[in-house]
Amino acid sequence: MAKIRRLMLPEQPQSIDPLHLAKNKEHIEGFLSLDSLGRLDEILLDNGGQVQYSLSFDFDASGICLIESKIGAKLSVKCQRCLDSMGIEIKKSSILGVYRNFDEFKKLKNDYEPFQLDEELIVVKTLIEEEVVLAIPLAPMHADKNCVKGMAAKALKKTKKRNPFSILKKLKNDKV
Ligand SMILES: [Zn+2]
Repeated sequence: MAKIRRLMLPEQPQSIDPLHLAKNKEHIEGFLSLDSLGRLDEILLDNGGQVQYSLSFDFDASGICLIESKIGAKLSVKCQRCLDSMGIEIKKSSILGVYRNFDEFKKLKNDYEPFQLDEELIVVKTLIEEEVVLAIPLAPMHADKNCVKGMAAKALKKTKKRNPFSILKKLKNDKV
């Protein structure tokens, strides 16, 4: 087993060189505040809080640089059924297979998530942001009854404004 050196930096690194870190089998971990992740602005109802992350670097047997990424966060998103806020907890672990060209891409195993390295350095924030976005369900919905109650209340309000049943009735009558 390779010995894992832990880098507990008081200041989190902004950018990292994955190949260099993989050579030394480095491990970094830390927190990023949700309000620093711009892509989450439209998804979150409340951007207070943090994402916890850890990144471990290594090479596989065929020389592919791997980043084992783990993220976790508590988020407040909009329920897609009743449109009220709901709290979700996300967790995601993935193995990113870093590739710089087609030859390396071909060596990636199926369980790696392909990660293209355009430049020498990776911006930590961008990587973590991408992982968080992927971990958020596409259509989050409350599992409890309150969700349906909220929806019923909203439907009632709509009915008062524009009665959808009169349209249905009309359609039905037209058919006859
Ligand atoms: Zn709901």
